[in-house]
Amino acid sequence: MKKIALILAAAILLTACGGAPGTAGSEENTAAAESETTSAAMTFAPISVTTSATEATKEDLADLQPDPPYDFDVDTMVPSDFGDFFTGTYSVATSSYKLLEGDGYENEVFVISSDNEGPTVYVIAGIHGDEEAAWQAGKLLKKISIKCGKLYVIAPANRWGASAVPKTRYLDGKDPNRAFPGDPSGTNAQRFAYALYNDVKDKAPDFVFDLHEAVIVQEGRDYLGSSIIYSDMELFGDLIIDLVLASQEGEICTKPFNFYSPGPAGSINRTITEGLRIPVMTVETFRGYQMRDRISDQLDVVQYVLRSYGLVD
Ligand SMILES: [Zn+2]
Repeated sequence: MKKIALILAAAILLTACGGAPGTAGSEENTAAAESETTSAAMTFAPISVTTSATEATKEDLADLQPDPPYDFDVDTMVPSDFGDFFTGTYSVATSSYKLLEGDGYENEVFVISSDNEGPTVYVIAGIHGDEEAAWQAGKLLKKISIKCGKLYVIAPANRWGASAVPKTRYLDGKDPNRAFPGDPSGTNAQRFAYALYNDVKDKAPDFVFDLHEAVIVQEGRDYLGSSIIYSDMELFGDLIIDLVLASQEGEICTKPFNFYSPGPAGSINRTITEGLRIPVMTVETFRGYQMRDRISDQLDVVQYVLRSYGLVD
């Protein structure tokens, strides 16, 4: 019954996504608050999912300060340190290659390959460098094994913003997630976006992850914490509905997820969906929560999808 309600809510959204100006809090709307000119064209609307869990969460979020401190070293950890994640071990080969090699803005893509035929999944973790749980989860994913197919991981995708003090979503002052599909002779954000977009195009994955985090940016506006963003539900079958339901019923994740559509112009989500017709799932964890839970939820969502594609048990 709840699944039918969710599908109906999605259908309503798809016919009514001309804008829901009362929505705030996603990484996209963070950009809006930072005077992104593209924000005027944004059509970003929440799908109302009413469970007691999300209602309670909504009330509590405004009191949480972003990025509470934590005292563990993710670099020394593996996914199973955060929960029951990626505990299977399979025979794989690993390799890596560089985007924009030798040009001063290079970044490494890590590859995990199974000898067994299977789907290809490409994980872009932390195109916004200040969204730490996103790229920490991506770094942890470089340590997993898969029983078939191929996994590409770039983390932190915006390694310049991730290593800045303080960390920033920007790359040389520009938002790389508004720079897609990029320009080989544009700004550094556009040049990197161009290299990444064309690498995804070249690898032709079956599924793309775009891992982010979210903060509350405007008081008094509706915001539902952790969320999934997509730009074309048809590319996913039942996957998003099933995933969101699983989180809301407590089967996966420490917090219930909601879902939103579409990704904004110039984003990984929108441009890869529209340009390459590949399903892109943007994952947002809320930065007011504890780092351990945020990383755990990122891993849980990725594991849920990799299981559905048969890459892991
Ligand atoms: Zn982001």
